[in-house]
Amino acid sequence: MKQNNEPLLELQALTKEYGRGAALRGVDLAVRSGELVAVLGPSGSGKSTVLSLIAGFQVPTSGRIFLRGQDISRLAPGQRELGVVFQNYALFPHMTIAENVGYPLKLRGWDAARRRERVAEVLDLVRLNGHEGKRPHHLSGGQQQRAALARVLSFEPPLLLMDEPLSALDREIRGEMKAEIRRIHREMGTTILYVTHDREEALALSDRVAILRGGNLIASGPPTELFRAPTSAFVGRFFSGHNILPIGDATTADSGHARITLGGAEVVVRSAVRGRGMRTCLALPPHNLRLQPGPGMPTIAARVVDVANLGHETEVTFLINSATHVVGRFPFGSGIPNPGEATDLHLSLDGALLVVDDVGIEEVATVESKQRELA
Ligand code: ADP
Ligand code: MG
Repeated sequence: MKQNNEPLLELQALTKEYGRGAALRGVDLAVRSGELVAVLGPSGSGKSTVLSLIAGFQVPTSGRIFLRGQDISRLAPGQRELGVVFQNYALFPHMTIAENVGYPLKLRGWDAARRRERVAEVLDLVRLNGHEGKRPHHLSGGQQQRAALARVLSFEPPLLLMDEPLSALDREIRGEMKAEIRRIHREMGTTILYVTHDREEALALSDRVAILRGGNLIASGPPTELFRAPTSAFVGRFFSGHNILPIGDATTADSGHARITLGGAEVVVRSAVRGRGMRTCLALPPHNLRLQPGPGMPTIAARVVDVANLGHETEVTFLINSATHVVGRFPFGSGIPNPGEATDLHLSLDGALLVVDDVGIEEVATVESKQRELA
């Protein structure tokens, strides 16, 4: 029999190759019953591939997938009994909302009376009562996505797989839907694997986040922990939104601290780097860049590249040592220099963390600016 501490879902060395390239390389991941795990990564990192392998739409090149200890890697999708929700709601346009939601139950041979009862229950759960008789195109995007959610919840799948379910919705509805998904997860205790490229969604929703990069699972942990203590420069920039300052090699790392040189000054910072001789970076939150000097703050020369108004704050992009961009956030209207001007930047080291420099950070910057354009 199943043991209590056995994971509901377990991926073992899961690999998927397409022709020459690998979309997924040896991914290990365990999901406990009742957990909401976010799989987060930039576009093309393999998120949808993980999901479609678990759902059975694709066959792994190697590795195995266990559900409640049973190897399901080679089962047909229909035999896996998992619920899947995609970005586009995929409701049947010619059916009413009630018919859509009751469809999985009809397939499973439920009689009309039981179906009606269950459909009312799940429509209640997603707050769509009163819309039973409507067709999908009479509902808003957010309502259609809630109907799609109700349809998979109707048959109580042991595991719900969601692939960027909110990305087709506008910002306000996205916020509402996040709260909805949190509530449904809390009330039903459904185990959810939630794929997203949006770190705010991962932070807001998940009990645990697993970060994919180029088909590799590079970090996983509780979101607030990983946010505060990113495990590498990539995680620091992509997940925490921190600035990444190249520090170079050869720092003395001991018991969680390191001595580094910054702006000509020797300072001691928290360190996540184990061992010696590694290329390192300093991960520094945007609020740690200051325009006024302060005690213990190293100073570096910078040039202003861009100034963006965020409403209650101003976001300023600087260029330092003519190669690295850093972003600071300042209270609105507080003597902010103009684009093109040179300025001194003072670095508060509270919450700064020395991390391993995993190369190729530029690609993340591109993804981030794309995200901002879309938002
Ligand atoms: P994500 O969902 O994170 O954006 P995907 O899992 O869709 O990423 O894709 C991961 C990688 O695998 C990408 O480089 C993509 O181009 C490639 N890929 C995905 N599906 C196929 C396919 N059917 N044939 C060939 N390459 C594919
Ligand atoms: Mg995808």
